[in-house]
Amino acid sequence: MPGFDPTDGLCVPDLAAVTGRVRQGPVLVVGLGRSGRAAVALLGARGAEVRAYDAAERPAAAPAVPTFSGPDVPAEALAGVALVVLSPGVPPAPVVAAVRAHAPDALVTGTFTLGIAALLDEIPDADLFLVTGTNGKSTTATILAALLEADGRAVFAGGNLGPPLCAHLAGEARARAYVLEASSFQLETYPGAPAHAAVITNVTPDHLDRYPGADAYAATKAAVFRGMDADRPAVLGAPVPEAAAPPPGLRVVRAYEASFDPGGAIVLPGTPPVDAGGFPLAGAHNRRNAACALAVALDAGVPPETCARGLATVRPLPHRCAFVAALDGVAFYDDSKATNVASAVATLDGLGQPFVLVAGGRAKPGDDPAPLVDLVAREGRGAVLLGESAARLAALLGRHVPVSVVDTMDEAVAAARALAQPGDAVVLAPAAASYDRYENFEARGRDFARAVRTAYPSAT
Ligand code: ADP
Repeated sequence: MPGFDPTDGLCVPDLAAVTGRVRQGPVLVVGLGRSGRAAVALLGARGAEVRAYDAAERPAAAPAVPTFSGPDVPAEALAGVALVVLSPGVPPAPVVAAVRAHAPDALVTGTFTLGIAALLDEIPDADLFLVTGTNGKSTTATILAALLEADGRAVFAGGNLGPPLCAHLAGEARARAYVLEASSFQLETYPGAPAHAAVITNVTPDHLDRYPGADAYAATKAAVFRGMDADRPAVLGAPVPEAAAPPPGLRVVRAYEASFDPGGAIVLPGTPPVDAGGFPLAGAHNRRNAACALAVALDAGVPPETCARGLATVRPLPHRCAFVAALDGVAFYDDSKATNVASAVATLDGLGQPFVLVAGGRAKPGDDPAPLVDLVAREGRGAVLLGESAARLAALLGRHVPVSVVDTMDEAVAAARALAQPGDAVVLAPAAASYDRYENFEARGRDFARAVRTAYPSAT
């Protein structure tokens, strides 16, 4: 496989080989979070001989599944294994080293690829739609699912939001269309599939602690187009770096060239206008997400009027610029999912009103805060900062707007309210990961909403 290969050549080369190795067994699943457990369940349902390993001590993955733990994958876990299935959160290098040492004939894949291989083995003509990108994956996948559902199709939408594909396939229900959100970690071990369409929403530097450089990260995103038949749509929601460019032979759809007319229609080049008057998500970035989803749905034969109806059924996702409450003309929004600079900028840029920014957390390595500083300097009323990156952001933002550095979310809400004027928005858009203080971005967003409601019980 071209591109960045963290498995050092051990990656399963195609989907048929994944299925073959599952039949051969045994299979070792590495990582026992949500997707690892789902992989164990799927493999069990398919009658494979399964083992599981997690660095931390975890309850058995399933009854009768030997479950190992410890800092390194034990030789015993790998003995005779035909296939190793990595969860996306597991750094591959130490596992690959253990495979080389203890199971030299084994191949490596990921839970995402395992799911797709099982899907196409069972339903070879399933309609597969893939969505990747640095930001906007969940939103775009959700919009696409809504458009297909409006057309009466049975849709499974999986990824960060929905259940993992493996969990779905371990159960009984089946869909016709599969909309899958793919992270770069999942795409690292993806050999390709005949997807009907694939989307890259955008590529900005991210996860530079995992990749040797921005190009390797971008190239991983381009893996989403592997294995597609000629002339299938490769949809781009923004211009992408060369390393993420779709391969020749696909039909490149530049959804970012769509026009958004003031009458409320989205017009993609070469397709009929689609009325987006009922589309409820604010911001230019969400219109771009909608344009990507529309490009796929129109190509898949969903009529424009049906797309218009589908767009109106979309609901805002939790922690993505979600309205919390308003008091005295100040509205509070939770955009805790803005875990990097580009996503925070996209949200704030699309607000259309002055804002007080609540930001800070574990900054992504190499993520340049300059675009956020520029935007706050232009349109921000002030900034309240907390978490690991607070001091650095305060030094940069403090040259342009009043800033306050605080210790707790309750203090953040009070300080932001003090800076805000009627007509302003207070937006939690941290431009950083949550792991310095919270278990995940959801917990951070919930804490913000709790702090707002506690401070202002009469807010509506
Ligand atoms: P992902 O699944 O890729 O993490 P989400 O759809 O969950 O993306 O959105 C996460 C955050 O990214 C949103 O809260 C918003 O701040 C920002 N965002 C959404 N769409 C885009 C886009 N097209 N371009 C830039 N930022 C975006």
